[in-house]
Amino acid sequence: MKPAPFDYCRPATVVEAVEALGSAESGRVLAGGQSLIPAMNFRLTDVSLLVDIGHVTDLPGVDTEVAGVTVGATATQSRVLNDDDAARVVPGLRAALRHVGHLQIRNRGTVCGSIAHADPAAELPALAVAAGAVIGITGPDGHRTVAASDFFLGPFWTALSDAEVVTEVHFPAAPVGSVTSVDEISRRAGDFAVAGLVAVIEVGDGAVRSARLVGFGVGGAPARLASAEAAMAGWAPDHPDRRLMEAAVEDTADAFDDIHATAWYRREAVATLLVRAARRALANGETS
Ligand SMILES: Cc1cc2nc3c(=O)[nH]c(=O)nc-3n(C[C@H](O)[C@H](O)[C@H](O)COP(=O)(O)OP(=O)(O)OC[C@H]3O[C@@H](n4cnc5c(N)ncnc54)[C@H](O)[C@@H]3O)c2cc1C
Repeated sequence: MKPAPFDYCRPATVVEAVEALGSAESGRVLAGGQSLIPAMNFRLTDVSLLVDIGHVTDLPGVDTEVAGVTVGATATQSRVLNDDDAARVVPGLRAALRHVGHLQIRNRGTVCGSIAHADPAAELPALAVAAGAVIGITGPDGHRTVAASDFFLGPFWTALSDAEVVTEVHFPAAPVGSVTSVDEISRRAGDFAVAGLVAVIEVGDGAVRSARLVGFGVGGAPARLASAEAAMAGWAPDHPDRRLMEAAVEDTADAFDDIHATAWYRREAVATLLVRAARRALANGETS
C-alpha cells in the first residue's frame, strides 16, 4: 500500500522542528523511518506533516563519559552498536542492539526513535528502564527530562506530548562489578522478541548482590520485576531456581496472548531467562 498524502519538511534546528510539529494538525517526527514509514504505508497512522530531523545540526552525537553515554536523536543504532567506548561504559547498549532487527534496519533506525516508538517488544526501552536512563525532551515550553521509568506509559504510548522531540537519551554507566545481559526468545534472529529480559546483576562472593530486571515482549510497558529482584538478591547457584521463577511469574501478571505465544508461555519464558541470566552472571561475569 501507499501512504495517504502528507507534507514534508527538513528543519535545521530543534526549535524549528518543534515549531513545525506545532504548526501541523498531525505532525510526526521522522527519524530512521523504520517503524513510522511501514505504519504510514499500512495506513495505521495518520500523518499530515513529516518533520525529518535527519539534518538537525544542534543535537548531540554519541557522547561517552565516565558517568554514562548520551545518545542524540539522530544517532543510528549501528553507530551506537559499533561504538567501543559506549559499550565499555554501558555494556547493555551493545547487548541490546545486537538483537534489534537486521543490519539494514539498524543502519537507519535510531536509538531515540526506538525509545519514542515504545514498542512493548523492543529491547531499548527495557534497557532504558533497567539502566535508569533519562530522556531529554524539547517542546514548545523548552527542555525537560523524564526518567525512563516514568516515560513508558503503555504499548506505543509515552509521556511525550504533541510537538515534543526526544533530543537525547542518557544511559548511566553500569555499576562497577555488574554484568548486563539482554536475552530473548524470538522465532528467527532479527525478529521482534516473543519474550525477553534485560538484567543488570551485581555479583560478589559467589552470589548475586542486587539485580535490576526488566522484561520485554511480555506486558504493555517495560517495568522492573520487583519480586524477582528481591528474590535474586543473595541468590547463589546452589540455591533452588524455583523461587526465582515463581517471583518472575508473579511480576508478569499483565502478560498478553497473541498469535505468537500465550501469556502463560511468555511468563514461563521470562522466568527461564531470569535463571539463565543469574547463572551466567555468576559463572563468568561475561556480558551477553
Ligand atoms: C523488519 C523490522 C524488524 C525490526 N526488528 C526490531 C527488533 O527486533 N527490535 C526493535 O527494538 N526494533 C525493531 N525494529 C524497529 C526498529 O528498531 C526501528 O528503527 C525503531 O523502532 C524506530 O526507530 P526509527 O529511528 O526508525 O524511528 P521512526 O520509524 O522514524 O519513528 C518511529 C516513531 O517514533 C517517533 N520518533 C522517532 N524519533 C523521535 C524523536 N527523536 N522524538 C520524538 N518522536 C520520535 C516517530 O514520530 C514515530 O512515531 C524493526 C523494524 C523492522 C522494519
